[in-house]
Amino acid sequence: MRAGGGDCELVHVEADRVYVKLSGVCAGCQFGPIIINGMRQRLNGAVSRSRHSGKLRIAPMKPVYLDNNATTRVDPEVVQAMLPFFTDKFGNPSSAHALGASVSAAVRKARRQLQALIGAEFDDEITFTSGGTESDNAALLSALEAAPNRTEIVTSAVEHPAVLTLCAHLEKTRRVKVHRIPVDCRGRLDLDAYMAALTPQVAIVSIMWANNETGVIFPVARLAELAKEVGALFHTDAVQAVGKLPMDLKSTAIDMLSLSGHKLHGPKGIGALFVKRGVNFHSLIKGGHQEHNRRAGTENTPGIVGLGTAAELALKFMDDETTRVKSLRDRLEDGILQRIPSTCVTGDPLQRLPNTANISFEHVESDGIPLLLSRMGIACSSGSACTSGSLDPSHVLSAMKTPHAAVRFSLARDNGEEDVDRVLEVMPGIVEKLRDFPSSGPGRQSAEGVQSGTCLSGSRTGCRS
Ligand code: PLP
Repeated sequence: MRAGGGDCELVHVEADRVYVKLSGVCAGCQFGPIIINGMRQRLNGAVSRSRHSGKLRIAPMKPVYLDNNATTRVDPEVVQAMLPFFTDKFGNPSSAHALGASVSAAVRKARRQLQALIGAEFDDEITFTSGGTESDNAALLSALEAAPNRTEIVTSAVEHPAVLTLCAHLEKTRRVKVHRIPVDCRGRLDLDAYMAALTPQVAIVSIMWANNETGVIFPVARLAELAKEVGALFHTDAVQAVGKLPMDLKSTAIDMLSLSGHKLHGPKGIGALFVKRGVNFHSLIKGGHQEHNRRAGTENTPGIVGLGTAAELALKFMDDETTRVKSLRDRLEDGILQRIPSTCVTGDPLQRLPNTANISFEHVESDGIPLLLSRMGIACSSGSACTSGSLDPSHVLSAMKTPHAAVRFSLARDNGEEDVDRVLEVMPGIVEKLRDFPSSGPGRQSAEGVQSGTCLSGSRTGCRS
């Protein structure tokens, strides 16, 4: 049999799978050209028989990408907007000549596009950075420098490592006291603990707008008001929320906000930090006068233009994100919960990003499902708690005391019903296979070992509170 550019010897055909022996380059299969020395390989693809020749053909199956909280595909319109800034419009925006001025105008436009997306009052409240991690670091370090008499930080136990790793470093090196506010089994912040941590010693509160693993949304506007009462600055890591939730920062007490291009169909390596006018800001990166003296270094102009365009598109697609994408997410979630026993939603089912489904599966290896899905061309990601004995535990699921393996599906505007259908078609078989196949590894949950958070029959979530 010939598939694409090479010779494949057919061994066995089974439903939608083809087992072949390869002797050379076999293109036209899902994984592109594959060079294997006569080894038996399994390829994914729809099999059909040609009506004319009677020969079998393998049509590569379209990959299903449901890992949009990890990163998103750059929108083709964003790519088009960026291209001239690698070629004709290569000038330095700080240059006084015409080439520099035209690029400088494009940077200003991108700033206004971001301003519109997050509802900032002034465009100069936006500073471009290299991404979410830099923005988070810049916000926290600036606050400590601006208030040397305040030596405490309040954050949550479920923040991204961009915040938590920095906090741990500051504890060790600068004797900063860090309050990590716990969450309940639905991932909701412990408000009593939050109030108790707020004192005049706190320099900055950093609480994420939405969690990257569960999608749980925190009430940041209210939390910011409470932080103001003790004179602390309020920063939010909104990397997962910007572009998915409507925002109007000018009507809130939020002082600083981090965002990242690659989570909203923009390029990687570009992001921004919103700093409200009047906040005493100390730049992280020292050097030239770029970005109103807030972030030194020649601007990443293609990235900035890409982020601006992505912001404009995000505003345009916001309704789609909160209606069509949400209904796809709900269909996926309901479908899995109905078809597969002992599964439940991880996180607050009400206060959640519209695109994120984090589902717990009892008695399954933490990485098993994403691994088998990946072999079928479906991308999602895994999460497990410390209690599951996984080598790579999720601090978020551990904080929620979720004892099961969890799988995160995160959708975006590129997804359609066919993607959800494909997952629903293969999931029951995958889970059954993993549950039937006892593992000697530490990641498997035994039914007896599960103490708390067990998926409750008739309930969408794994906890009673
Ligand atoms: N904060 C959150 C909540 C994230 O999800 C991420 C990326 O996964 C980051 C920060 C880091 O952003 P970046 O990749 O742009 O540095």
